[in-house]
Amino acid sequence: MPISIRTKQITELYSNMPLQKNLSPQQLAALTAFGLSVPISLIFLFFKPEWWVVLILFGLIFAGSYLLILITLQTFIYRKIKLIYKLIYQTKATKREEFYFKNILPQKGIDEVRKDVEAWAEQKTAEIELLRQNENFRKEFLQNLSHELKTPIFAIQGYVDTLLNGALHNNEVNTRFLSNTSKNVDRLVTLLNSLDEISKLETGELPLTKENFIIQDLVKEIFESLQLKAEEKEIKCIIKKGCEQPLTVFADKEKIRQVLVNLTDNAIKYGRPNSSVEAGFYNVDGKLVLIEISDEGDGISEEHLPRLFERFYRPDHTRSRKVGGSGLGLAICKHIIEAHGQAIHVRSTVNVGSTFGFSLPVKQG
Ligand code: ADP
Repeated sequence: MPISIRTKQITELYSNMPLQKNLSPQQLAALTAFGLSVPISLIFLFFKPEWWVVLILFGLIFAGSYLLILITLQTFIYRKIKLIYKLIYQTKATKREEFYFKNILPQKGIDEVRKDVEAWAEQKTAEIELLRQNENFRKEFLQNLSHELKTPIFAIQGYVDTLLNGALHNNEVNTRFLSNTSKNVDRLVTLLNSLDEISKLETGELPLTKENFIIQDLVKEIFESLQLKAEEKEIKCIIKKGCEQPLTVFADKEKIRQVLVNLTDNAIKYGRPNSSVEAGFYNVDGKLVLIEISDEGDGISEEHLPRLFERFYRPDHTRSRKVGGSGLGLAICKHIIEAHGQAIHVRSTVNVGSTFGFSLPVKQG
């Protein structure tokens, strides 16, 4: 039975019950029995009987109606409540729950039961919301994935068809078409490798090999390896003034290299020509080192920032696809940093630039 229908049924079932503030069935029965016995005894007083007769009559009416009301309450209302609890718990009642239903539940006031049901309904609403979000996430992921696969595959198909239909013997175009085909194959391979890596990171199949190393040295190596790319846009990659003091971190060097390559590569890709990319390093209370890569690019508008680290999320599709890679880079960075028990964040202002930062623990031993 769908959860929402079940919730509705229970709410209906529940709304039919009398609402008394924190009264147990015994109290409720006693109160009603008292309310019945007093007026009947008063009426009987009109006939001027002996006082003890009135007292006995009062006692008998009180006891009789008390028992009758109590039995009715137990049988009808608590049977319904028991049913509600059974629906809430969904699983077959264990011995302990049976004991609870028989002995503790009847002691509960209706208000307490209402609170239990409300808490249950809230929990179910949260579960439904999570399921809905996951469902949307799954749909979006599949859409993005098929889009990412389609683009290079259709390009390859086009080049191969044209080559087979005669272009193969046309020396002016054949090498260019083949090299474009090869680029698209590379793009597919990168995409599949990134996906494979993400799923391994998610399932914890890529264990971390941590060591102590100086973070500035690693960043200098990365700046050197990306120098050609930076020079094409006349971008200077530098270490921020005042951040030269070597800081040793304890992390998986190769995975952190991957994160830094990705952040620096993005800073160059999305940075303005003739600007600079800066790396900053800060010791936070002697326990963590904060590493930041800043660029002077177009920046990212605020509404995109919360989703930036999601797989395939791109704020500006046309621009990113022209210069970008698989759209999985930042998602991989997030996974790697989270595997270290740390967090990655972004600050960005349109037409000013972006700063991506993450923390790592300082050296151990
Ligand atoms: P891509 O392969 O598209 O670069 P990423 O996951 O590395 O994938 O980045 C996702 C998107 O975030 C990019 O497409 C780009 O729009 C945006 N982005 C990432 N880094 C920057 C940056 N430094 N400046 C501006 N936009 C950026």
